[in-house]
Amino acid sequence: MATLTEESTTAGLADAPDPDLDVLVATEEDRRARQVNLLAGENDASPRVLALLGSVFADKYAEGYPERRHHTGCGPADSVESLAVARAEALFGAQHANVQPYSGSIAVLAAAAALLRPGDAVLAMSLAHGGHLTHGSSANFSGKWFSVSGYGVSERDGLIDLDQVRDQARALRPKVIVAGAISYPRAIDWEAFRSVADEVGAYLVADAAQTLGLSAAGVIPSPVPYADIVCGVTHKVLGGPRGGLILSTRELAERVDRAVFPFIQGGPMVNQMAAKAYTLGRAATPAFAQYAQQTVRNAQRLAAALDGHGLRPLTGGTDTHLVTVDARSLGLTGREVERRCEEAGLLLGHCAVPYEEAPPAAASGLRMGTLSVTTRGMGEPEMSGIAGLVHAAATGATGPARESVTEGVRALAERFPGLSTKPQCGDSASG
Ligand SMILES: *Cc1c(COP(=O)(O)O)cnc(C)c1O
Repeated sequence: MATLTEESTTAGLADAPDPDLDVLVATEEDRRARQVNLLAGENDASPRVLALLGSVFADKYAEGYPERRHHTGCGPADSVESLAVARAEALFGAQHANVQPYSGSIAVLAAAAALLRPGDAVLAMSLAHGGHLTHGSSANFSGKWFSVSGYGVSERDGLIDLDQVRDQARALRPKVIVAGAISYPRAIDWEAFRSVADEVGAYLVADAAQTLGLSAAGVIPSPVPYADIVCGVTHKVLGGPRGGLILSTRELAERVDRAVFPFIQGGPMVNQMAAKAYTLGRAATPAFAQYAQQTVRNAQRLAAALDGHGLRPLTGGTDTHLVTVDARSLGLTGREVERRCEEAGLLLGHCAVPYEEAPPAAASGLRMGTLSVTTRGMGEPEMSGIAGLVHAAATGATGPARESVTEGVRALAERFPGLSTKPQCGDSASG
């Protein structure tokens, strides 16, 4: 029989060296340091966000909601989630917040689960005009489980055609109208969508994953006063952990909560909720408002400068961090421009240009964002420089011309190294 004082002879679980992964992490840090990132949805998480993601909360199971958990030992986890919820509700002026969704797509799935039954009619932005996968793609739950019709932008100015939205809503009588997009650079008129939804008796879901952070800073109008459910993420503009967020009216609170857990998810990621809580607190500071304003100014300068190189901004400009341009003047597909830019160390994306004839694989739009570059401290002068680098990378064929573009990108990245990639929980008392 073992006694309480006997020395343990069992093997605990400890760390072993793993040079393979050490190398991969170092390689990724190096990539991030060398490249200039214009990917629309990416931002650079701060050392504190990384530290909270790597904190002991990563281990904790906490199925359920604060004070109503399936597991024991949830005291600190309850406090983390309650803090994140309180900060989200205060930041956005929302009646209810759920901070458990693992990602933005899961938040949209939960909104659908809260409001719809399989087969119900939904009206959402068509994918060819900027809608997200979860807005009716035939490969996604949205297209498979619901009857989704798409509205689009007007051919004349590239802006959302609200007359078309109204006509389609009257004809379809959808149960849910989804407003929001991944590559629409303009502020969305949530109030107009609300009036269409009211007219046909539909719920309004705002998928504001791209822009909710800008609304938090007051840079563009917020969907919260108008939508029944708002879906968002804490990465993108907010610069926090990859993860989703749902805001709703008080009436829908319980349906939203039950849709997230137990309908879709099991235990929430408590470490992710801790990093969300930090991010939502930071978003209420003047420094964040300044960041959001600079992000939009940078996007506006980038759009104007690309226009100067013959890359026409879709909709004529931007109100957000997003810049979409028509690259047909280059005589290259968006994917080819994307590839040439990556070779030079510039990351950007391709997208469809609404109403273009080309098949999706040959789409000739480019999609960019100014989140990471603004986090790294770049301003308008650098945006003008980046536009020149994008144009040169796309057009400069080979040899010294190409090398000088790569050099230019590298020099810019080195001049603005950005935040440390080492997780760190700073000393709150000192600042
Ligand atoms: C980014 C985004 C999403 C998806 O978020 P994930 O975290 O990648 O799942 C959903 N909808 C819109 C409009 C987005 O921009």
